[in-house]
Amino acid sequence: MYYHFKTHCWILGIGVLIVGCQLEGSSSASPSQEELQGDAMGHNKHTYDSLHALYLLDSLDSLYLPTFTLEELTGQLDFSEDTNFRAIARDYCYGSRTLYLRQEACDSLEAMFKAAKKDGIKLLVRSASRDYQQQCYFWNRDWKKTGKRGAEKCLDVMKIVAMPGISRHHWGTEVDIDGLGNRYHKATEDNKRYAWLKENALRFGYYQCYDGDTSRTGYQEETWHWSFYPTGQKMTQDMLYLMTYGDIPEFSGCEHAEEIDVIQHYILGIGSVPNALVETIQDSIRTE
Ligand SMILES: [Zn+2]
Repeated sequence: MYYHFKTHCWILGIGVLIVGCQLEGSSSASPSQEELQGDAMGHNKHTYDSLHALYLLDSLDSLYLPTFTLEELTGQLDFSEDTNFRAIARDYCYGSRTLYLRQEACDSLEAMFKAAKKDGIKLLVRSASRDYQQQCYFWNRDWKKTGKRGAEKCLDVMKIVAMPGISRHHWGTEVDIDGLGNRYHKATEDNKRYAWLKENALRFGYYQCYDGDTSRTGYQEETWHWSFYPTGQKMTQDMLYLMTYGDIPEFSGCEHAEEIDVIQHYILGIGSVPNALVETIQDSIRTE
């Protein structure tokens, strides 16, 4: 087993799903069929496979125990000082910057890159954890470039860059892999890298969360962005539980976050988790 996650989180997570399933038929607080399907624009369409957890959060607030803090979820920490994080081995990084991930995501990533290397595939990380200030830097850079106004301006920037405070890159579970940009896919080497990841990443707990599913809301497909599911899943749930629009820190355009409903459309705008990954995780719980 390549990743080491907090067992109690998973037991809780499965409990959340089971209780959530039981509530689906009976709770009057459950979303209507229309809410589930969304409108013609795809708004309010839930594509996240842990939708049931939302029912639970609605109705059983007091039973839910977040593992992570809002500071951790919104990137307000120093990765180099935080003992839950460690630097990715230099050989696996592009350029000279030190890149950080959560310990368990890092162990698994390095195991995955080692396995790829054995198969003759060279993978490099271009970007990993980004704190709130770093995300602001990217946001402000693109904010100045776009000529639109108001919420439209935010949506335009979000074609490329996540809003500060709601980027999954704050979490220590996400990596951008070098050379896998959508536009590079005609290059044979990049096709080989992508094909390898599609075939093997699940074994290491990673999946392409911004996939090509057109029913998904939020960001466009990002073939380079890979997410460590075991921790990322829990962080997504904690984010839904803890985050309100009042918690989003100040930056240019932050006043439009609620209007766009970034929590609903972007945090939940991730692809379904492949069944194979869920089964792997369930197997690992059974054998522990
Ligand atoms: Zn990314």
